Amino acid sequence: MSVADILREWGIVPTVPTLSPKVGTSQTLVASHVPTVPIVPAEKHKARAQPLISRSAARGDRDRMRAALLALADDLELDRAIIHRLTTADLADCAGFPADALRAYLVALDDTATRQAGKVAVGDTAAIYCARCGPVFIHPDIAAVLPVVNGWPRALGCPWCFVRKAGGTIPRPEEADHD
Ligand SMILES: [Zn+2]
Repeated sequence: MSVADILREWGIVPTVPTLSPKVGTSQTLVASHVPTVPIVPAEKHKARAQPLISRSAARGDRDRMRAALLALADDLELDRAIIHRLTTADLADCAGFPADALRAYLVALDDTATRQAGKVAVGDTAAIYCARCGPVFIHPDIAAVLPVVNGWPRALGCPWCFVRKAGGTIPRPEEADHD
């Protein structure tokens, strides 16, 4: 696993894991299926009903995914608001991922929301030096794989970068401990 993979896993950007899109889900099948209608003039109107069926099936998939994510969030004791903020596209992207991947996604979303609120996420106990943000708190698993220069594990970017860009608050580790 590369450093980039580890950083991405810990929520550098609030996106879902990038696996290849799953082929052959029920949604795909419904959307792409073209019924082989016999060449009988009276049957022609059937084709027009197809888009309605696809739309309602897709909406049903989204509702089921949202309900599943809410149940996972409850299991993990996370704020349900992270699920309610997901877009339709986010929910569609979640389709086909196993529960473990969705749990990791929700934890990353929750950590992101915590940082956006100017707080350190639970478990982010290590101090590193981000080239763009300066000293920041981060998970020890990430700090452990970074090169150390002058006592600081160094990174070119970190999960706080987007908080800094948005003008948010970044809690700082004590620099004196390392200098
Ligand atoms: Zn940073």
